[in-house]
Amino acid sequence: MGGAILLGSFRRCKVGLMARPLPPILRAVWPAAAAEPPAAAVEAIGRAVEVLSRRGLVAIPTETVYGLAAIAFDEEAVAAIFRAKGRPSTNPLIVHVADIAMARSLAADWPAAAEAIATRFWPGPVTVVVPRGPRIPDIVTAGGPTVALRCPDHPLARRLIAAAGTPLAAPSANRSEGVSPTTALHVLESLGNRIDLILDGGPCTKGIESTVIDCTSSPPRILRPGPLSRAAVEAAVGGPVEWPAAEPAAVTARSPGQQARHYAPKTPLEMPDDACGRVAALVDAGQRIGWLTSRTDDPDVRRLAASRDLVIVPMPADVEGFAARLYATLHALDQRQLDRIIVDRPPDDEAWRAVRDRLTRAAVRT
Ligand code: AMP
Ligand code: MG
Repeated sequence: MGGAILLGSFRRCKVGLMARPLPPILRAVWPAAAAEPPAAAVEAIGRAVEVLSRRGLVAIPTETVYGLAAIAFDEEAVAAIFRAKGRPSTNPLIVHVADIAMARSLAADWPAAAEAIATRFWPGPVTVVVPRGPRIPDIVTAGGPTVALRCPDHPLARRLIAAAGTPLAAPSANRSEGVSPTTALHVLESLGNRIDLILDGGPCTKGIESTVIDCTSSPPRILRPGPLSRAAVEAAVGGPVEWPAAEPAAVTARSPGQQARHYAPKTPLEMPDDACGRVAALVDAGQRIGWLTSRTDDPDVRRLAASRDLVIVPMPADVEGFAARLYATLHALDQRQLDRIIVDRPPDDEAWRAVRDRLTRAAVRT
């Protein structure tokens, strides 16, 4: 498996990049019960600080997805993030902080909603957008007047930010538009020798990107649904919070990072209303299909399971479990030369909105 992944990334390397070696992967899993870092983590953090201070790019674990980090105050280092990802310069980055004090130091104004959200949920999977202070370079915010800030709930990431003594700009550690990485190997497969170091802190527990909340408007507005529900945010701010007006099928490239196609595997993905019927028809037509379904006890699903050309991936029926497993499943299926990935349409309720958002964008073909 590891060999196949390495070969895959070599094949995709441009000739000009071949001279660069693949980045070291430093494994430093931090047992939940341990307050102090294990020796491997101390060593990994030291190496990462060194790499960051000479403007290098370090992939770091967080509880949402792996991030590709550079020192947020260093324009040149941040420019290297955009190059490594192939990310349009119009799509601003989230700046990761060690605590609320560091966040406040980066904001021109710290709205009450940001304070309420950060106090209640940080470290955690929620990003606040606030007026930008003067220390944040233009390149981080895509020239805009606001900055997105988050304190990640992963001990390696937080220790690293504290040890570096500076906030880190870090988008997801994958090539632009692709599926975000939830393991160190996903990072290697997507970015390979475009980056300098990977810290392996184990698989991400949340598995989808943070909830992004614009705290400069009143009421605050959710720009990107994520692991944190609207109800939880409303309880924290003590009032209503707006959702994006439309679900992604109707979203245009109006706001940065909200382009319709995003989070997409290389294999075409569909979310049909009648997944069973669609899978049966495609298999009949001779296609090789991967199918994400929670209905593995359904007799119709079991009948289809006998087909040689069908890979059924049983998915958790609860939204947290589904989200945690989703990207790793898409990465794995992408390695299998399938014609198509079919996903059961998730329930049409609010709790599943972030997952529906990612899947709908993954299904858009350009
Ligand atoms: P990524 O880190 O790749 O998951 O993407 C970061 C997300 O945060 C994108 O959807 C960006 O559009 C969003 N974002 C970052 N900075 C801002 C900002 N200043 N205002 C609004 N959205 C932002
Ligand atoms: Mg991303």
